[in-house]
Amino acid sequence: MKKDIIVIGSGFGGLATASRLLSKGHDVTIYEKRDKPGGRAYVYDVNGFKFDGGPTVITAPFMFDDIYTAAGKKREDYIEFVPCNPFYRIFDSDGKPFDYNSDHEFTLSEISKRNPADRKGYEKFLSTTKAIFDKGFVELADKPFLKFTDMLKVAPDLIKLQSYKSVYKYVSQYIEDDFLRRCFSFHPLLVGGNPFDTTSIYAMIHYLEREWGVHYAMGGTGAIVNALVNLIEDQGGKVQLNSEIDEILVENGKTTGIQLKNGNIHKADIVVSNADVAFTYKNLINKKHRKKYTDRKIERTKYSMSLFVIYFGTKKRYLDSGLAHHNIILGDRYKGLLNDIFHKKHLSEDFSLYLHMPTITDPSMAPEGHEAFYVLSPVPHLDSGTDWSEMAPKYRDAIMQFLEDNYLPDLQENLVAEHYIDPLHFKNTLNSFKGSAFSVEPILTQSAWFRPHNRSEDVENLYFVGAGTHPGAGLPGVLSSAKIAENLIGEV
Ligand SMILES: Cc1cc2nc3c(=O)[nH]c(=O)nc-3n(C[C@H](O)[C@H](O)[C@H](O)COP(=O)(O)OP(=O)(O)OC[C@H]3O[C@@H](n4cnc5c(N)ncnc54)[C@H](O)[C@@H]3O)c2cc1C
Repeated sequence: MKKDIIVIGSGFGGLATASRLLSKGHDVTIYEKRDKPGGRAYVYDVNGFKFDGGPTVITAPFMFDDIYTAAGKKREDYIEFVPCNPFYRIFDSDGKPFDYNSDHEFTLSEISKRNPADRKGYEKFLSTTKAIFDKGFVELADKPFLKFTDMLKVAPDLIKLQSYKSVYKYVSQYIEDDFLRRCFSFHPLLVGGNPFDTTSIYAMIHYLEREWGVHYAMGGTGAIVNALVNLIEDQGGKVQLNSEIDEILVENGKTTGIQLKNGNIHKADIVVSNADVAFTYKNLINKKHRKKYTDRKIERTKYSMSLFVIYFGTKKRYLDSGLAHHNIILGDRYKGLLNDIFHKKHLSEDFSLYLHMPTITDPSMAPEGHEAFYVLSPVPHLDSGTDWSEMAPKYRDAIMQFLEDNYLPDLQENLVAEHYIDPLHFKNTLNSFKGSAFSVEPILTQSAWFRPHNRSEDVENLYFVGAGTHPGAGLPGVLSSAKIAENLIGEV
């Protein structure tokens, strides 16, 4: 039967779900609290620059193709993807670069420059990640894991694949050199995990990169958001902005719709929440309807780190700076820094950074002759107790000074646009519990069946998509959650 469906939030998970359900023939309306769609992929327009707020690395572009195909359209008519080469340029603490891409010989030659003995180990590592990828991504990422028996069925395979090991430990079995171990184990950070705690299933991200490449969307990730909104509207769906939902209405254990902050009530047969899952249970559903997701359970769950991100534009170009499109700048400390962020919840003075320079590939992101950047530093979530209203300007100054001293000469006198976000932004603007940037931490005991399910166990006709649900954060993860929700809700 054709259903009236409300989607809360217009992150990638919400947009993909809306389009998929429209393709199945349902009526769908998205309610988004902010003035623009995209969630973490919000675009900041500052002085002629376009800054993508969040995701920049597109690793499985075919997942967007699938959404368009389901709607009877062609992705190419809406979005253009271009490959990035290298995938990443990773700098050690002396500023020495290491590049990798899908050209096997090239990557081996880069490894040889660091430690020739690791060539063989890398090849072995790569061959084992195929099995992890086949199981973890191809087979399991779009399965719902609603029953404990679903978990039991895959347990033997997970043990065989050594998923009880951390990504760092797994990589270290094959690779000797300390810096190269970092280069092939940082990937869980892209989905909110500590490489020393995240299950080695996430070692498949490197395989995924090699299989489909690392891409950039021309016009920025914001262009993908706009293209999905256009698709949804072409399909007859609606996206209501500036519409914050205050409560998910429940009668006799079933949702009947939502109430907005302005008091308006909208009835629905089904509600799909793309808002942070912890926030949704704790703040949008009355306690009396929550048997499983009690405040205590939400509080005891472990959440991923937060981020400090500075978006900045310069009036000169930095094409000769030795930077690539995607740069990772590692500091001296790796395990110690991650321990501070994830376990001690302590904001350290040192940092490791991701530096995005999209204008290398796409000058349209800045006024002519200008360069656009964003720099991101992983920081603890709000359990750190850091007073960000006082700390943010100081933290910003330390990062910008570091970049000026080491990578971008005369940076500060060339700045013409700037904006930054900190953990308070994740909590207050994006409604993320504890200001976490990636929601529920991806550790083994919070994965698959152990992760918040895509169909609510407390409220009938309520579904969840997005970073905090199964399978997890990152664009491939949240797009998979949309596919799961579509399959659970079914056809007209
Ligand atoms: C800085 C940064 C960089 C990243 N880089 C990458 C990358 O390069 N590649 C990658 O794959 N992933 C990356 N990620 C992760 C990825 O961006 C996220 O996992 C993904 O975008 C989350 O999507 P989501 O579907 O969970 O929704 P979100 O983006 O979290 O959106 C949720 C939406 O719900 C809305 N909302 C919340 N409460 C309400 C309410 N009460 N009423 C109405 N609306 C509400 C919010 O305003 C928001 O728009 C990055 C994340 C960050 C923060």
